[in-house]
Amino acid sequence: MSIMEIKKMGEPVLKQICTPVEKVNKKIRTLLDDMAETMYKYEGVGIAAPQVGVPIRAIVVDIGKKRYDIINPVITEREGSIVDSEGCLSFPGVYGEVERAEKVKVEYTNRYGKRKFIEAEGLMARCLQHEVDHLDGHLFIEVAKNITTGSKKDE
Ligand code: ZN
Repeated sequence: MSIMEIKKMGEPVLKQICTPVEKVNKKIRTLLDDMAETMYKYEGVGIAAPQVGVPIRAIVVDIGKKRYDIINPVITEREGSIVDSEGCLSFPGVYGEVERAEKVKVEYTNRYGKRKFIEAEGLMARCLQHEVDHLDGHLFIEVAKNITTGSKKDE
């Protein structure tokens, strides 16, 4: 595994609409492992492939319980609405309040090519929405309010 360079605010790849992964192979699994290692190094709870310069629909999320390798995610259900603080590995030190659905259901393909789903709430739901946004070139900063600096974990 290796640490990848995180693309920061202003890099065009962060604004791209990412392409679906057609075949889940060893190359994709290696990318997921490298993304995870990079996320852990910078103490994030989520990372999207475009953040390491690869515009494909893959994310890794770990809010401290279990690592999820998520390919071609689709948010199929959203429920409720909640505002909370958010950060992003591509915007070090920047935090803002973002309104998100309180609960989501996400369908995705895992690292072995199997279609799965997660039902999530709280930080996990927030993180999934933040990372899926990255795959469509949407950045939290576009919708964040009360933007500040702080020490909470980046996504
Ligand atoms: Zn982010």
